[in-house]
Amino acid sequence: MLDLVVMTRHNHEMQPLPVKAHGRIDRLSDGAANRIAAGEVVERPASAVKELVENAIDAGASRIEVTIADGGRSLIRVADDGSGIAAEELALALERHATSKLDGEDLVNVRWFGFRGEALPSIASVSRLSLIARERDSDAWEITASAGEIGEPRPAARAPGTTVEVRDLFHATQARLKFLRTARAETQAMADMLRRLALARPDLGFVLLDRSGEKERMLFRADPETGDLAEARLARAARVLGRDFAANAVAISAAREDLTLAGHAGLPSFSKGAGVAQHVFVNGRPVRDRVLLGAIRAAYSDVLARERHPVTCLFLDCSPERVDVNVHPAKAEVRFREPGKVRGFVLSAIRHALAEAGIRQSTTISTAALGAFQPGSGPWRQPRPSARAVEMALAAQAPDDLPDGFAERHGPSGFALPHPEPSATDAAHPQAEEYRTHLPLGHARAQLHGTYIVAETAEGMILVDQHAAHERLVYERLKSQFASNGIARQGLLIPEIVELGADADRVLGVAEELATLGLVIEPFGAGAIAVREVPALLARPHIGAAP
Ligand code: ADP
Ligand code: MG
Repeated sequence: MLDLVVMTRHNHEMQPLPVKAHGRIDRLSDGAANRIAAGEVVERPASAVKELVENAIDAGASRIEVTIADGGRSLIRVADDGSGIAAEELALALERHATSKLDGEDLVNVRWFGFRGEALPSIASVSRLSLIARERDSDAWEITASAGEIGEPRPAARAPGTTVEVRDLFHATQARLKFLRTARAETQAMADMLRRLALARPDLGFVLLDRSGEKERMLFRADPETGDLAEARLARAARVLGRDFAANAVAISAAREDLTLAGHAGLPSFSKGAGVAQHVFVNGRPVRDRVLLGAIRAAYSDVLARERHPVTCLFLDCSPERVDVNVHPAKAEVRFREPGKVRGFVLSAIRHALAEAGIRQSTTISTAALGAFQPGSGPWRQPRPSARAVEMALAAQAPDDLPDGFAERHGPSGFALPHPEPSATDAAHPQAEEYRTHLPLGHARAQLHGTYIVAETAEGMILVDQHAAHERLVYERLKSQFASNGIARQGLLIPEIVELGADADRVLGVAEELATLGLVIEPFGAGAIAVREVPALLARPHIGAAP
């Protein structure tokens, strides 16, 4: 008998582990094979949504409706108006490695999303699944499977198309159940998945309904877009990523050899704090590919801070020989034959488009900056700051331990208002002593871009971001209101509707906390919220303004 030696993690000592000599080689049962495949194909509810919606797209559907409950655990239903399935093929659709999408052996020219014939049997092996399908000019039939056991087809009723209903996903796979996140997180993941597919196919209609509570909630809706492909893609991007994206993105259109890149790349000013908004499609498939994400990051490296992430919706097309999509069961990864070439192409296409837009941008900024040093020499000249504005700006920066009576003499904030005309003797600091004792923040001398106040002190200078200082003031007041008797709210006469796209749910998820902070919001259809009340202190905030 063999002795296998293993290292245990705890004591790092070699321990002999007796191994039973194995017997005959057996084939895995279909059930076992399906459950193993399920481990790869259906990692979580969102993967089931992906597979089922891709099947609907492959079936030529024009409208796809997804209904979920309890984060996908109790229900995932995908209904489409596609080709349907013939009654005699229903059982076959649930069998392993059965697919209608491969002609012969050619794995390269794959024009479908699916082709491995694994999704339905895998999902059926870890859930209770019902498949109802009706071909045009035919009747509807239903077949059910529970933990992989397939029943007999029986007559059913539905319009032409297919409905796949998955109940109790992973109920028999406790290990997998344990890895699921909260219902909210899984719902979010499913919604993100559907949005990605909706970006891939702007010509199709998508709906996502959540039936967890008493009421059915519409989480997402996108009707088929019209117009040519570029128009439809932009309209869909606006629907999915928010209207702001469309207004703050540059169009990309580049070609080199057999590679083409189309779509939109967000301006650097329209970036996000988390890297979740980089959508890339290779030959129509949503992918998360390292080569492509790396190329995008590199394209923005000069114009974006490290912790900011660009928003993109890019479509890379190439001849099928150039890319292998069959690397991963979920087909989210791809492998390029010449990754360096693809990277270089994508990088330069984005950089080029950004440069064209960016030259305009940075020209305005640098001209304004120069203008600030040449008073009166251009239309961009900023008015002198009002005394009130300067006071507001500097108040927040004032030290707490001002001497008694200081505020009465100098105003509440510890600085002097701008001199009408700075004199030449200023440079010699004749008032150095005064600065040191009474004006720790010095004399405000100038204002740049209507935002930055430059103050002269005894030892040097202080630069104050006036807007940030003002925000800080309001923030401190809100904090003290919150601590005493709650933040005073003011109702809006007309509620303001803000389009948030994918973020709407996230924001609505914390509506209660926001209400205690003075912001009362409500759902307003898919992807939007209605703002009803705002903190009274904010007077007239720009509610819909981008961050
Ligand atoms: P694959 O998509 O890789 O072929 P699946 O297990 O996902 O494998 O599906 C098996 C087969 O079932 C498909 O090839 C297709 O013929 C049929 N099928 C699945 N879903 C649908 C649908 N929504 N409409 C029509 N046919 C479908
Ligand atoms: Mg499939």
